[in-house]
Amino acid sequence: MPDTVSLQVLKVALPSPLRRLFDYLPASHPPPCGWQLGLRVRVPFGRREVVGVIVELADTSELPRSQLRAVSEALDDAPLPDDWLWLCRFAARYYQHSLGDTLQHAMPARLRQGHPMAGRTQTLWLANMQTQPALSRAPKQAELYALLSQHPHGLPTRAVSAHGFTRDQLLALTKKGLATQQEIVLTAPEPPSGNLLATPALPLNREQAAALAALHEKLDGYHPCLLEGVTGSGKTEIYLQLIESVAAKGKQSLVLVPEIGLTPQTLARFRSRFRVPVVALHSGLTDPERLDVWEAAASGRALVIIGTRSAIFTPLANPGAIIVDEEHDGSYKQHDGLRYHARDLAVARAHYHGIPLLLGSATPSLESLQQALSGSYRHLRLTQRPSRHQPAKLELIDLRHQRRQGGLLPNAIKAIKSTLSAGKQVLIFINRRGFAPTLACHACGWMAECGQCDSRMTLHRQPPLLACHHCDSRRALPDACPECGSGDLRALGSGTERTEETLQGLFPKVAVHRIDRDSTRKKDSFEQILKEIHRGEPCLLVGTQMLAKGHHLPHVTLVVVVNADGGLYAADFRALEHSAQLLEQVAGRAGRAADPGRVLVQTLHPDDPHLGQLAEHGYGALARNLLEERRLAQLPPFTFMALLRVESPQEEAALTLAQQAGQALREWLKTSGLATNCLGPVPAPMERRQNRYHIHLMLAASKRSQLHTAASWLVQWMEANREARKVRWSIDIDPQTL
Ligand code: ADP
Ligand code: ZN
Ligand code: ZN
Repeated sequence: MPDTVSLQVLKVALPSPLRRLFDYLPASHPPPCGWQLGLRVRVPFGRREVVGVIVELADTSELPRSQLRAVSEALDDAPLPDDWLWLCRFAARYYQHSLGDTLQHAMPARLRQGHPMAGRTQTLWLANMQTQPALSRAPKQAELYALLSQHPHGLPTRAVSAHGFTRDQLLALTKKGLATQQEIVLTAPEPPSGNLLATPALPLNREQAAALAALHEKLDGYHPCLLEGVTGSGKTEIYLQLIESVAAKGKQSLVLVPEIGLTPQTLARFRSRFRVPVVALHSGLTDPERLDVWEAAASGRALVIIGTRSAIFTPLANPGAIIVDEEHDGSYKQHDGLRYHARDLAVARAHYHGIPLLLGSATPSLESLQQALSGSYRHLRLTQRPSRHQPAKLELIDLRHQRRQGGLLPNAIKAIKSTLSAGKQVLIFINRRGFAPTLACHACGWMAECGQCDSRMTLHRQPPLLACHHCDSRRALPDACPECGSGDLRALGSGTERTEETLQGLFPKVAVHRIDRDSTRKKDSFEQILKEIHRGEPCLLVGTQMLAKGHHLPHVTLVVVVNADGGLYAADFRALEHSAQLLEQVAGRAGRAADPGRVLVQTLHPDDPHLGQLAEHGYGALARNLLEERRLAQLPPFTFMALLRVESPQEEAALTLAQQAGQALREWLKTSGLATNCLGPVPAPMERRQNRYHIHLMLAASKRSQLHTAASWLVQWMEANREARKVRWSIDIDPQTL
């Protein structure tokens, strides 16, 4: 039988790293809408069944009909949202990733598992008010009736059973006509008509008003804007007022915030402003709750959707604006699997929908800043804080040749002391958790190194152990030096635990709160500490960047940066940009309320010109200077890069493969005429991690399209290469770290 007799073939994207689709025949029972793009289907795959999405319809297959298997069933009555499917296709193509894997990543777990799309509903029980219910012979039912009567808006089943009542008792009441059950959708009820605001908007200052007016100029078209506003300058107020205008047209706003930024305080701020439904996508949600939010957004019922990185994949029925807060934040980039950047996808998405895009930051990424300076994005600026005090200048203090206690210089300790006696709080920023960066033998110079990585192990005291922060391996503390047997082992340098201990010794009567990943592991402990801090008693906060970003700490008037040198001379060309952003954000915690702030920055390089410029003129000036340097060096954002990472337990295997890939690519580039450079391979800055060797091959081009053509060729070469199956490899488009 010829294969071409009107055959319907469903091309299905499956959860597989392979960059290809799989052909299936339709099942005998079509779904109500017929076989359409975007339908989830359950299909046989090898000996298993998996969930996939139909992404193409065809009338031929490369396989003979006899080898095609049929879809087992359609899982949806209607296709998944169009805009979502578009974004997934775009991301898969842009990041050179398998479409099937992308779709899986971008849908809520419940959909991945094959559950239906409908939003979760909840059963509420209500009393039918009667003056004399005939329940004298059923005391338990009488009690239940009394309980329901106290809740005129109804009680969910779970709450009823928490009061010790059973489902049977509820049904008995219902039978007697004394109770009714009602199904409600959990999140996002209908938007209220009339006033959108629950609390009034703030009257804007001149700069804010100008920024908002600029945004209002084009609310129904693609309108990318960078809002560059110093810390505390009222960017969030602009977001809120933009959302208001968008909601007034019945349209939705998608707000992305950094991982650290989605706190109950942030949510409360959005929720207390609006009477329209505000839903949030955060890590604390259960899978069914996550699906609810997805559905509320896809159906258009939720008008404001706030979430971290992956929220960019939320479908929107009536998209009106996309806002990316702290657009420079590293948490927008995913570092494994689909290596996407949520801010960059936000740009693509706003363009696709034809809606405004607002990127906000006190410390914009050089990528976005360049777009704004070149005129591709509209550049909006806020230079003043509404509060009296402008962001404090950084005061550099010289770490060389001075004795330190717990990492702190005498001048810093003096300033801490006087701040405390003035009744204020101090934030001590130190980007290393643990007690000390390493343990060393004073007799022979041995240092505790990780057996699996090219790195030292961090000394912890609470509990006492050595831990590698790169692979998480742990070891007991040795009693004596494993090299020479000496007992003179000493902690080298300071981490948060040591600084905490020192400060507690120096200021025994003052509370010292340590905030890092170790101290906040328990659920809600961070919230508890923040609550304590907000009470406003004088205290010391010792924290990593967890505390340094985003939080409004009104009682902090002094910030001390224990060591500012991390990014100054790093191998990664972005390290300086990232460390300057962090410093500026940390500094921005000081003096946000009634009293002015002071920021002391300890450094071994007080004469470093970049650090000097940051201290004297702020991030904005340094960023513009760094852009000039990037332009001269032909680095991003003036070129585009892609990184091939190859890793293997055998260094030789990874290196040889990367060399062959590089050679093949170079030869192909010569014939293709593409102006793309291939650099390397070179070992990754930390070559051995978790006992695997990491090798990099870099591609760079001044035209994005050319980079993509080359990267795509390389990916195909790798997929076809037998040796490549024996190693792990990945392609990273626009890599953020080396
Ligand atoms: P950013 O998002 O730029 O860090 P916020 O929006 O959090 O700044 O604003 C910082 C503080 O200033 C907040 O307490 C906010 O309520 C207040 N604020 C913002 N805009 C105004 C305004 N126009 N008038 C008075 N206070 C304002
Ligand atoms: Zn020794
Ligand atoms: Zn390690």
